[in-house]
Parts: sequence; structure tokens; C-alpha cells
Amino acid sequence: LIATRNPSEERLLAYAAGNLSPPEAVVLAAHLALRPANRAWVDRLQAVGGELLETTSPSRLSDGALSRAMARIDADGGEAAIRPALNDMPELPEPLRRYELGPWRWAGPGIRVRSVQAPRDGQCRVILLKIEPGRETPRHTHEGVELTCVLSGAYATETERFDVGDFEEADGDVMHQPRVVSDEPCLCVVALAGEIQLPGLLGRLMQPFMRL
Ligand code: ZN
Repeated sequence: LIATRNPSEERLLAYAAGNLSPPEAVVLAAHLALRPANRAWVDRLQAVGGELLETTSPSRLSDGALSRAMARIDADGGEAAIRPALNDMPELPEPLRRYELGPWRWAGPGIRVRSVQAPRDGQCRVILLKIEPGRETPRHTHEGVELTCVLSGAYATETERFDVGDFEEADGDVMHQPRVVSDEPCLCVVALAGEIQLPGLLGRLMQPFMRL
């Protein structure tokens, strides 16, 4: 039995309502492109939102939530087919092909990162992380939320394994050390708020390289 790692229901609901921060929404959109069942769930939720819009007095709706949800439906439905792909990674799921990418940068042994030029939210930004087989990140915790979706390959933490499409939510309560367990490099898209926190001497040496 292969376990699939999904976003929390709260995060899926926030996405469906258009209330997720832009960087988090980019990672969630990549996940939904790889997990049609979750995509269908969000679509159904948004359809219900549309019906509410027609049958409920606007004054009773929360501050623009449904109009944002409707705008998201328009964006998801219409733009993909006509927008030209912008970046040099055709293997990326469609939602990520819309964004320009920064140059690959070294971020430790067997680890490379490049920025995704998606809208930021304060300190929260989107990056691609590529780690070679058998390599691992330094053991770390987080200043803010860290959302990860696996795009190719697989990694494991001390307690779980994450394969293509799987989604990991981590924050300051989570200390982990993802290690690539696939024969190919593991490519992930990550929304990262604040700095990742690297304890120990190696961590202090690595910290400047992990900063984007
Ligand atoms: Zn982490």
C-alpha cells in the first residue's frame, strides 16, 4: 500500500475560496495538477460556491471571498490554453510553466535551488529544489510555513515517504531532514515563509546558501 500525502482540508478549502496566499496557491496548484482526485474535489467545492453566489444575498458573503473564488475558476479555466510557456522546464506541471525561473544556484552538496518568479507574500516565496539521489538537506526547522510538492523522484523524512504529487506541510513545530530515496534526482516546488533554521555548526555554515 502506497500512502498518499495530501494537503490539509483547511488549506484545500482556503485555496478553493481564493484565500490562500499566492506562493502557497502556486504549490497547491502544482499538487492539484498531479492529483486529479483532489482537483475534482476542489472543483466541486468551487461549483458549490458559485451556486451560493446565485442564491445568497451579497451582503451576507464574507469580504469578497466568493468573487475571488469565481475569479480563480476563470483563471484556471481560461488562461492555461492561451498563455505561452515562459520557462525552460517543459517537464513541470502546467501551473508552474507560467512563471519565469531564476538561475540554478548551489545550496549545499547535491542540492540546487532556483526561484520561481511567482507573486510573493511578504517573506513567503516559491522555489524549485533539486536534490541528487542519496543526498539530504541539513536537518532543519522553519521560521514560517513550508509547503512542498514532489514533482519528480521521491524523498523520505524520518517518519514518512513522499512520492510524485505528494504534499508536505511543515512549520516551526516540525524538525525534519528530507533525504532523496529515488534513483533519479528529486525535484520539488516549495513555498517557504521566512528562513529555514539550521541548528549546529554545519547549519550555521550552510545558512547563507539556503537564503533566497
Ligand atoms: Zn523543511
